[in-house]
Amino acid sequence: MSQISLENKINLLGLTKEQLTDFFELLGEKAFRAKQFMKWVHQYGITDFSLMTDLSKSLRKKLSQHSYISLPEVVSRFDSEDGTRKWILKVENGSCIETVYIPEKGRGTLCVSSQVGCSLDCSFCATGKQGFQNDLSSSEIIGQVWLAIKSFNGFLSHNKNQTGKKKDFEKVTNVVMMGMGEPLLNFDNVVSSMNLMMDDQAYGLSKRRVTLSTSGVVPMLDKLGAVTNCSLAISLHAPNDELRSQLVPINKKYPIAMLLDSSLRYINGLSDNKRVITIEYTLIDKINDSIELAHELVDLLKNIPCKINLIPFNPFQGSDYKKPSNNRIKVFQSVLNNAGFIATIRTTRGDDIGAACGQLVGRVLDRTKRSERYNQKSTKNHEEAVKIISGL
Ligand code: SAH
Ligand code: SF4
Repeated sequence: MSQISLENKINLLGLTKEQLTDFFELLGEKAFRAKQFMKWVHQYGITDFSLMTDLSKSLRKKLSQHSYISLPEVVSRFDSEDGTRKWILKVENGSCIETVYIPEKGRGTLCVSSQVGCSLDCSFCATGKQGFQNDLSSSEIIGQVWLAIKSFNGFLSHNKNQTGKKKDFEKVTNVVMMGMGEPLLNFDNVVSSMNLMMDDQAYGLSKRRVTLSTSGVVPMLDKLGAVTNCSLAISLHAPNDELRSQLVPINKKYPIAMLLDSSLRYINGLSDNKRVITIEYTLIDKINDSIELAHELVDLLKNIPCKINLIPFNPFQGSDYKKPSNNRIKVFQSVLNNAGFIATIRTTRGDDIGAACGQLVGRVLDRTKRSERYNQKSTKNHEEAVKIISGL
């Protein structure tokens, strides 16, 4: 994790409790100030230091000298007929990302982006086709959660006279790192922001309700258990290496057996032993949706504690792939169900606003605004990422 210093003004939005504690200590303040501050930002939704009335005036002054709170800018918001909501957000370097909220019975899932674009180039993914632009900072990742809660008016009231209002994050009960980008290639920023989502002083989401989805960056997955305990989803999409390497190029470097071993080590290392891996399988017509492949998948996963999420392919411009017929999807599902797996079909949501899986593309608006500091950080992360995936 990056070192906290007072050298430059720092955006406090994405700092974890530990990082904020370091920051307040550098300011000559007691550690408990970090918790007070987190409550203002992440529970009351307050970003103006002058309203943080239980911090002394001198501390508030120091805060504005050395730090600031900055959120991504909402460029537009779309509300689908089915309740799905999509935001286009402009981030620090001028690029745009997308965040999607999907309401379901009894829960609301926020699909959060971790990068602008993606370097892994999976053959069925619009984000991948766009190439990699840059990593999001932890502030830009947690900022997506903050903005969603704000738009639902879900923050606690800090006005003591207004009693009765309870924390109402219910609108956002789950977060999945399934928007644009590969979260494990932006490791530190993704881990910091997910830990904030699960921190009781911030959003307090249960670790079962914060899910990282990866296409299989094994060396980073091997490091994940040491720094967080979120839930895990693996984008599998094929039961054998030959087919998977065509769909998910990173499989050439980290094949299925390595990926499943690493995933098992991760969930076995978690303190509660009831957790399972979510296996994501995008069904593409006549490519990976045959009965034979369904049986092969059953065989591959027979000793893996998992549930399977079948995602019918969402078409996008420039792709020749097609969504399978409903009948083919049902047959594939029934092979898995009959073998005893929980296999659900993810219904397409927010289609009318381009918010379905794999349709998230954002766009680059203005690269000239990229700040020097941000540029350096982004380049360092990206260099590491290139080392990990090189040779593909
Ligand atoms: N990079 C991560 C997380 C983002 S992708 C990953 O690959 O897991 C989130 C999910 O959307 C993945 O399971 C991905 O395979 C799926 N997806 C991507 N493009 C899709 C498309 N066109 N139709 C359906 N699902 C898609
Ligand atoms: Fe990247 Fe995930 Fe899309 Fe693959 S599916 S290109 S890893 S965002």
